[in-house]
This record gives sequence, C-alpha cells and structure tokens, in this order.
Amino acid sequence: YDAKHRRVPHCVYDAGLDRHSRERLALYTELSHAIRDGGLTLYYQPKQRLSDGRIVGVEALLRWPHPQRGLIPPGAFIPMAENSELIRPLTAWVVDAAIRQLAAWRRDGIDLRCAINLSARNLLDPGLVEYIEVALSRHGVPATSLEFEVTESALMEDPNAALACLLRIHALGAQLSIDDYGSGYSSLGYLKRLPVQTLKIDRSFVSQLSVSQPDEIIVGSTITLAHNFGLTVVAEGVEHDADRDALIALGCDVIQGYWLAKPMPAAALAAWLAARVTTD
Ligand code: C2E
Ligand code: MG
Ligand code: MG
Ligand code: MG
Repeated sequence: YDAKHRRVPHCVYDAGLDRHSRERLALYTELSHAIRDGGLTLYYQPKQRLSDGRIVGVEALLRWPHPQRGLIPPGAFIPMAENSELIRPLTAWVVDAAIRQLAAWRRDGIDLRCAINLSARNLLDPGLVEYIEVALSRHGVPATSLEFEVTESALMEDPNAALACLLRIHALGAQLSIDDYGSGYSSLGYLKRLPVQTLKIDRSFVSQLSVSQPDEIIVGSTITLAHNFGLTVVAEGVEHDADRDALIALGCDVIQGYWLAKPMPAAALAAWLAARVTTD
C-alpha cells in the first residue's frame, strides 16, 4: 500500500484510542512485520534423561529481538498473537525455523528431537498439518524428530477439535506432549483418549518440590499415574540440586530447567553440547 492509504486509519485510531490501545496497536503492527521480515528468533532449551544423563531433546522457545525494547519474551506478545489471526503465520514461521535448524544440526551430526509449542487456535487450523508436512519435506527432516507441546487449557477450549488435530499430527509420526500439566482442569477420561506420549509437569509444582510436602505428593502421584498410562514424565523448571534429587527419588524420567541450562540461541546450544561431551 502507499503512504496515503496507510495514514488514514492511523488518524482515525489516534482519535478514538487511549495511549494503551495505541501502544498495543503499534506492537501488533510491528509483530506482523517481524513475522514477515524474519525479525523473530528461536532459543532452545535442552531436556535431560535422568537414567543415563543423555540430552534427549530441546524445546524451541520464541524470542523477539526488538530494536528498541531488547529481547522480548513470548509472554509479552504471544497472547496478542493468539487473540488474532497472527498466531497462524507466527506458528508457521516457528515450525519452519525449528525444522530448518534441525536439518542444520543433522548435517553437523547432532541428532536431536525438537519440541514446538502450539496454541489453542493452531489446533483449530485446518492448514496446520499441511504446513508442518511442507516444512519437513522442504528441509528433509523426518517427522519423528518433532514433538508438539500443547497445554491442558488449550486442549480444553475445544476438546473434540483438539483430539482430531492431535490424531493427524500423531499420524505424521511426530510426538505429542501435554504442557504445564496440573495447571488446568482437564479430565483424565479425556486425556487418556489423546495420542500423547509425554506429560510435562508444570513448573509451579516443581519449584517448591523439596520444601513443600503437598507438591511432593502431587508430583509423586502424577508420575505414578502417568507411568501407569505408559507416559514419559518431564519436569519443567528444575532450578536446584534439591529439585533434581527429589525428582530422581520420585522416578521422574526427564528434566528441563535452569539447573541444566537456560534457553539459548542455536549456536550456543551446539557449543554447550560439545562442551558436555568433552567433560563427561
Ligand atoms: P512453556 O512451553 O511452558 O515453556 C517453558 C517456559 O519456562 C519458558 O519460558 C522457559 O524459558 C521457562 N523456564 C525453563 N526452565 C525454567 C526454570 O528453571 N525456571 C524458570 N523460572 N523458568 C524456566 P518462555 O521462553 O518465556 O516461554 C513462556 C511460554 O511462552 C511457554 O511456556 C509457551 O507457553 C509460550 N511459548 C514460547 N514459545 C512459543 C512458541 O513458539 N509458540 C507458542 N504458541 N507458544 C510459545
Ligand atoms: Mg512448552
Ligand atoms: Mg510448560
Ligand atoms: Mg507455560
């Protein structure tokens, strides 16, 4: 569009909106440009299997390096994308970028599984599975290298549609996990119908684990229950030695958190992995 057409709506908005709304509108416009122009980036946080110490995968976590505001965390802009149609191009960008990175790592001999977060609206998008497939074949990566994380609350927004979507992703060969488990109100009757392999226990239960007996009981019984369903359990937000020790005692399978490593750019992750191999 030309400058004249761009200016007209701005004048209209400025007259009718308060400062807060105008700032949000500006952020929205900037975000749409960042998605379009490659202005977003992914950080990667490793996950470690407790039984043998192996790094079994990474989670891709979105960051927005903003020229004025610095590195913006996803909590500051993903909700805005989720409440608009921006979540679709945003997720499509994340999927392509993560798979492109997986391909690059594979060329360097690094074989990792990468987890991607999906929002509630993505589960209602009939084009989701197709753009995942397109990205996989474009970069020559098998679907088995992918995992998708979906929160309990996203699943519960439209449980039947979510189930249909997860079945299609599962049929591709990608793994599925329930994120932030315990923070929502999903019923076990529903969860057991889902083609998921992994339960990620919400950070809020993990952070107090070594000092809170109720949390220890919740985490312990969640692990037992998940294992009885044949699910792998990941604990999120593991920050201290004591958290890790408690999780080992409770039979947790995999940990993720600052104790192991913070999310980092792709190159830093490769260096981190290489340093581990030489010091192990
Ligand atoms: P999540 O999927 O539950 O991701 C875990 C969050 O916990 C990440 O925050 C991570 O940096 C943080 N974290 C990991 N270990 C620790 C720890 O030991 N202590 C503490 N205090 N925090 C830890 P982050 O990167 O800010 O992401 C927040 C949320 O934003 C994510 O929660 C996820 O729901 C959403 N998100 C991130 N990237 C994407 C994306 O590409 N698409 C969508 N739809 N959502 C995303
Ligand atoms: Mg996640
Ligand atoms: Mg989580
Ligand atoms: Mg979360």
